[in-house]
Formats: sequence, structure tokens, C-alpha cells
Amino acid sequence: MFIRILIPCFNEAQVLHHMYEQLSDILSVDSQLQQYRYDILFVDDGSTDDTLTIIRQFAHVNRKVKYISFSRNFGKEAAMYAGLKESNAVDALVIIDSDLQHPPELIPQMINAYTQGYHQVVACRDRTGEQQWRKRLTKLYYGTINRLIDVSLMDGVGDFRLLSQKAVHAVLSLSEYNRFSKGIFAWIGFAPKVIHYQNKIRVNGVSKWSFKQLFNYAIDGLLSFNNKPLRSLIYI
Ligand code: UDP
Ligand code: MG
Repeated sequence: MFIRILIPCFNEAQVLHHMYEQLSDILSVDSQLQQYRYDILFVDDGSTDDTLTIIRQFAHVNRKVKYISFSRNFGKEAAMYAGLKESNAVDALVIIDSDLQHPPELIPQMINAYTQGYHQVVACRDRTGEQQWRKRLTKLYYGTINRLIDVSLMDGVGDFRLLSQKAVHAVLSLSEYNRFSKGIFAWIGFAPKVIHYQNKIRVNGVSKWSFKQLFNYAIDGLLSFNNKPLRSLIYI
């Protein structure tokens, strides 16, 4: 069994060492316990800080570390897609953020669920530590979007997940240009196993999302998976 960990990174020099150490400790123990081989694929999404230098240092001392480096910043969706495209031969792939907001200690549980036959294992965070207005807005968004679009999106579920080789192939078969992965992962099916965890505040570095970007992403979600808004416009 061969597992790959896929990590999109953009300007994460402040937290990358810490993340890599935690991840390596967990994987070196768990790979013995659950009997698998693994590697770690970083995708540097055009960072302008020392992220790429740090990744190269990891790769220099650890043959399990591989990386893709972008010529400029293309966004997390592009980084994930590039990583997925290079991973169609692995048995399972875990996508995880580089900022420790996705706790690597959940990976062993994810792999365990995969060995039990799940093709998707998703980590679902609660909203601990978030401001009230944001919680309300998110609830309203998920309530609305799930009434409108054909797939069902779950609050708290993002890109932190395990995909089996079959699920990776299914995701890759969709060659959308503007990718809304939250929707794509739901669209491919394979009833997922859900693992719940407590939301983690970013300890170092900053979120790359401005409110405007997040708002536009929410609109993408609304438009990517249905033609109801377009149809309504035509009716009007
Ligand atoms: N990221 C990326 N490209 C971007 C923005 C972010 O690869 O253009 C990575 C980032 O390094 C992190 C993950 O995507 O590993 C999530 O980004 P961020 O923490 O900014 O998002 P948030 O957690 O606030 O949703
Ligand atoms: Mg983050």
C-alpha cells in the first residue's frame, strides 16, 4: 500500500518546519503500525518567501519528499490539481494544508478508514473560535446553497481528506478550468467516512483569503454546480 500526502503551500515559511516535523513523526510511526509506504508531495504555489528553499532542504535530506514548483501564484485549486495529476498511481492520497490548521494526527484514522474500504475520508471541523457573525453567515450559506445545487455540501468539510486511487481518477476526469473542489469532491460520490475535529486557529503566518475572495469563492460554489441562477435570469 502506497500513500501520498499532498501539501499545497503559498508563503508558509513561518510554519513549514513545524508542520513537516509533526507530519514526519506521525507518518514514520503509523507507516510501521499500519504497514504502508508513503511520500510527501509539496506544491509550492509561487511563494515569494523562503517556502521553496525550505521544501528543497527537506527534499535534499529525505528521499520521501518531492515537490512541484509553480512559476507564479495560481491559487490553491491549481496547486491541488497539479498534485492530483501527478498522483494517479498511488493507492491513496491525503490532501492537507501546510499551516497546521488541518491536524496531521488525523491522518492515521483516515488511512485506517481507507483500509476498511472507504474511497473518501473527510475531516470535518467545528467552528470553535470563530466570530458569531461568521458562524451565522456560513450557516445561511450552506442552507441556501444546498437547496439550490444538485450535490450536497457539508459545513466544516473542506479539502482535508483522503482519496483512494479510484476517487483520484474520478476527480481528474473532470477537467473544469475554474475548479470548485468542494463541489467536485461531493459530485464524484463515494459516500465518505467523516472524521470530526475541533477547529484550529492559524498559529503562524496569515490566511491567504480576503473577505472579498471568500465571498467570490462562495459565489463560484453557487454557479459551478447548477444552472438554476442562469435559468432564473432567462425566465425573468
Ligand atoms: N494556498 C495555496 N495557494 C494560495 C493560497 C493558499 O497553495 O494561493 C495554501 C496555503 O499555503 C495553505 C492552504 O492553501 O496550505 C490553505 O490556505 P489558507 O490557510 O490561506 O486558507 P484558510 O485556512 O484561511 O482557508
Ligand atoms: Mg489556513
